[in-house]
Amino acid sequence: MANVKKFTCIVCPVGCELTATLSDDGKSVANVEGNSCKRGITYAVEELTAPKRTLTSTVRIVGADDKLLPVRTDRPIPKGALFDAMKIIRTVTVKAPVKIGDVLVPDFIESGTNLIATKSVDTAAK
Ligand code: SF4
Repeated sequence: MANVKKFTCIVCPVGCELTATLSDDGKSVANVEGNSCKRGITYAVEELTAPKRTLTSTVRIVGADDKLLPVRTDRPIPKGALFDAMKIIRTVTVKAPVKIGDVLVPDFIESGTNLIATKSVDTAAK
């Protein structure tokens, strides 16, 4: 019996319901249905063979009124690397001021992927 997976495409807000059929050995994707565009096929293949996620979290910030700074990776990273990524994030402390989009950790987990600030934070009011 064919190995069929159903899931929602999260590439855009349309949220197509995809049905992907895996090859007999389960190592590749034989067919994708339900996608309204080609990006859905790419997403389905990636999701079933090498799933990735954009990591969002917070890091400590010093010299600001806030104690935590929201951050994210600037591109999706392998789902299997999320645990190691969180271990690194727990060791990161940045100093205010920080501007939204600032690269806080270059080459985070993978070469070419950066951990960036998702909020601007000024130095503490005195
Ligand atoms: S298949 Fe295309 S249109 Fe549908 S949710 Fe994915 S990216 Fe959007």
